Amino acid sequence: MLARYVLLRLSNSSSLEAYLRRARMAAPLVRRFVAGETIETAVQAVQALNQRRMTATLDYLGENVTNPADANEAAGRCLQIIDAIARERLDANLSLKLTQLGLDIDTGITIDHMQRILDAADREGQFVRIDMETSGHVDRTLEVFRSLWLTRRNVGLVFQSYLHRTDADLQNAIRDGVRVRLVKGAYDEPPTIAYRRKADVDRAFARQAELLIEKGVYPAIATHDPRLLDNLKQYIRDHNVPSDRFEFQMLFGIRRDLQDRLVAEGYRMRVYTPFGNRWYGYMMRRLAERPANLWFVLKNLVRP
Ligand SMILES: Cc1cc2nc3c(=O)[nH]c(=O)nc-3n(C[C@H](O)[C@H](O)[C@H](O)COP(=O)(O)OP(=O)(O)OC[C@H]3O[C@@H](n4cnc5c(N)ncnc54)[C@H](O)[C@@H]3O)c2cc1C
Repeated sequence: MLARYVLLRLSNSSSLEAYLRRARMAAPLVRRFVAGETIETAVQAVQALNQRRMTATLDYLGENVTNPADANEAAGRCLQIIDAIARERLDANLSLKLTQLGLDIDTGITIDHMQRILDAADREGQFVRIDMETSGHVDRTLEVFRSLWLTRRNVGLVFQSYLHRTDADLQNAIRDGVRVRLVKGAYDEPPTIAYRRKADVDRAFARQAELLIEKGVYPAIATHDPRLLDNLKQYIRDHNVPSDRFEFQMLFGIRRDLQDRLVAEGYRMRVYTPFGNRWYGYMMRRLAERPANLWFVLKNLVRP
């Protein structure tokens, strides 16, 4: 618990980020969780996933940009991903973060970028998923989403089970027919806003996943938790839910064994595949989820 807290706090440290990027000691860990720095390496990773009968969602790493030029650059990358998916005939779509497109600067800029991205995706018959970030961004993310939803349908959201507000948000999303990815939540949130105990988060996740499978529009159930997955599979069998009504999702490099097993059992599996050189925040959140991963970094540090 303490390690998780410390790692999530450090995920905001620009000096540690600069140090780790220079030192390259995190390289083996980055390679494990990130599909390379370029779109070409990411395309190869998706082709390998497609061969394993999995789909992918590509993510150009980056978040919390503070100037419009960086937001513009990230929007351009998103358009390149849409092109690459179409050109290479990948079974994949795009995930992105709104703070990468300027949400901390201005919602208007973000909406403009999103409209361009959704229009390009629509021309190629593609869907775009908006990741959910810290609790301080949820209302603004929903505001941008509502504005896009007025005229577009190829966009979906993520909700985090650890937030107390999520039961209510999910009811609205289900009512409006919004495609939802359900996750536990990856940020450090205070107890007034979020459950802190794993048992409470897991209980909320199980309840919300069942609700989405029963009433949602093609929900994505995103977890590596074997116990939750076993219980959900039981629920799906008990209620005769067809396996094309939903999909499971996991992160690149995490529990590949479980990914393969679910596919072999006939379930749909989409792998979130991040690439690019702004891997620091993403990697620190993966470390916080499983501090044992730190050994990768430490072993590399002491290696002569
Ligand atoms: C496809 C996808 C998209 C996501 N998008 C978002 C998002 O938009 N916003 C957001 O806040 N969060 C997002 N997350 C992260 C999510 O909130 C969790 O932090 C993350 O999935 C870990 O939770 P878990 O459900 O796997 O369960 P946990 O209880 O954390 O872990 C269960 C088991 O999974 C394995 N495991 C989990 N994490 C790791 C790891 N890092 N390394 C190795 N093994 C691990 C371990 O075996 C562990 O025992 C996403 C996750 C996925 C899978």
